[in-house]
Amino acid sequence: MTRGPLPHLSPRVKHIATLALLCMLCIASMCGVYWYAQRNGTQTMIDNAQHRLDLYESALTSTLTRYDYLPKLISLNPSTVLLLRNPGNSEMAVMLNRYLAEVNAGAHASAIYVIDLDGKTIAASNWNRPDSFVGENYSYRPYFVDALRTGSGRFYGLGTVSRTPGYYYATRIHDADGTKVGVVVIKIDLDMIEAMWKRSPETLILVDSNGVVFLTSFAAWKYRTLKPLLLATRKRIENTRQYEIVGGLEPIGLVEARRLDEHATLQTIARKLAPPSRAGLSFEPEFIAVTQAVPGTNWQIMSFSDTYSIRQASRSAALLAGFGFALAAIGFLYLMQRRRIVAQQLAMRATLKQMNDELERKVLRRTEALTKANRNLRNEVTGHRRTEQQLKTTVEELVQAGKLALLGQMAASVTHELNQPLVALRILSDNAIQFLKIGRNDEGIDNLHSIVRLTERMSSITSQLRRFAYKSPAFLGVVEIDRVIANALSLMDLRIRREGVMVAREPATTDLCVVADPNRLEQVLVNLFANALDAMESSATRILSIRVIEEADGVAIVVSDSGAGIGLENLDHIFEPFFTTKKQGVGLGLGLAISQGIVRDMGGRLRGGNGAHRGAEFHLHLHISVPCET
Ligand code: ADP
Repeated sequence: MTRGPLPHLSPRVKHIATLALLCMLCIASMCGVYWYAQRNGTQTMIDNAQHRLDLYESALTSTLTRYDYLPKLISLNPSTVLLLRNPGNSEMAVMLNRYLAEVNAGAHASAIYVIDLDGKTIAASNWNRPDSFVGENYSYRPYFVDALRTGSGRFYGLGTVSRTPGYYYATRIHDADGTKVGVVVIKIDLDMIEAMWKRSPETLILVDSNGVVFLTSFAAWKYRTLKPLLLATRKRIENTRQYEIVGGLEPIGLVEARRLDEHATLQTIARKLAPPSRAGLSFEPEFIAVTQAVPGTNWQIMSFSDTYSIRQASRSAALLAGFGFALAAIGFLYLMQRRRIVAQQLAMRATLKQMNDELERKVLRRTEALTKANRNLRNEVTGHRRTEQQLKTTVEELVQAGKLALLGQMAASVTHELNQPLVALRILSDNAIQFLKIGRNDEGIDNLHSIVRLTERMSSITSQLRRFAYKSPAFLGVVEIDRVIANALSLMDLRIRREGVMVAREPATTDLCVVADPNRLEQVLVNLFANALDAMESSATRILSIRVIEEADGVAIVVSDSGAGIGLENLDHIFEPFFTTKKQGVGLGLGLAISQGIVRDMGGRLRGGNGAHRGAEFHLHLHISVPCET
């Protein structure tokens, strides 16, 4: 089974996926940086705390060992042993008291005192003060018990008289025989140490073997414990009056969250029990606790460093990393976007170029087609011109043919018209010869004059026909309408007379002239007249009526007859070429078609139909009319 291609992701989905990936990477990088910064910060904090603990521990140790030489010094004093042997010797007691006071003045201990074997204080450096130890019995105090038993005793606790805490350093005293006679005790005040610790940035505590805090830079933790005390332990402390029990010896409330290394743990505590922190309320209290044993004692010194600074620095580093990552991501996205835009531009440019090439190709193809079309058009135009020319020639030939047809129609009457004078000429000539022969010269000359008139008449007939037959080129000029009508009538005169047609020429309503071709206009009129005469051949009344009417847009020549008129079925066809109702050989059916063409060429129009009364009526309208030149 083949697997199909992966579905194509839309750009929007791709965008969202890229953004989600970048966000995840950003969060991951922030977490990584936070973790790394915290680990580093924690280690640095542990190292620093360790280092400082070394210093505090050595300061403490040096304070504790500073008086190591004193017990020996005091035991070597003869009055010490003497007094211990004779406790009732007040003189000796005064001497020892003074001595102890003197020694302490140089040693700066809290107090130095000597106890006999019963535990009773027989001399003390503070002998002359109200809180003097002289006379007090310390047989129950562990330092006394230990010193008697082992030679030395060390103890930290509250003074039973002074109620101030101190470090008790007890040493057994022997006489010259080596018999134990008593104990010398030096009480050392550790307030200075505590005061020094309070200036420290971390919280410091000194705990005894029971886990009781007896020295601390944070007062609220004093005489509290790291862990709940066993009842027996508590009882023992009570018996030795080591610490204030009332309200004390309760656990601090520290909870070990994690062990960091052999000496360091991470501790949390309820906010109300915690030392004041710079973190305020922004973080839960959390401390790195580092522990160090104090040599020569069973104490432990502990420092509690607030992790606030680590957490804040880690948070800042993570934020910075996030910010940096976001900047890098924006830069990356910008570059990607830019790359995409450039790619799009290149693609667009390529498409544009392709389109341009295509366009150029199209233009080229079009140009070629146009050139070809142009060539064809030119050829066509040339062809049209040629055709037009041919048409023109044809039209002219047609016109001429029309003329000749008309002449043909006139031939019979012309022949008749010419035959008559010819016969008369013959007779007049014969008569003239006879008159001249017989000397009747005047009559002969009269005959000759008649001959001259006859030849003139004949010449006028033939010249009229010749002029009509003349194939004149088309020409437009100002034409006097009356003259053209007269010429046309004179051409038809022989037939009019022979057929007894009455010509009714109504006086013109205008003396306007028209712009027309006189020869062709005459041809049109001759054609109209000839058709009218044809139509009236079988009519009893033969009237050819001609009117010239001035119209709104020109002049009209109206030709009507008293013939039978145009058959209704033929009305639409009379102007069609070769339409004729006349006998074969009489009509060609070209007259009206040619006439209409001639009139149209002159800018006019020719219409035909039946008149209001009887017969046909043709309306020849010419547009351009001008006043006739006088
Ligand atoms: P032709 O005279 O050779 O027939 P025309 O084109 O001059 O050709 O005339 C066409 C036809 O129009 C005629 O055959 C005739 O039927 C009709 N016609 C023309 N003039 C008249 C007219 N005055 N009266 C009756 N019919 C006419």
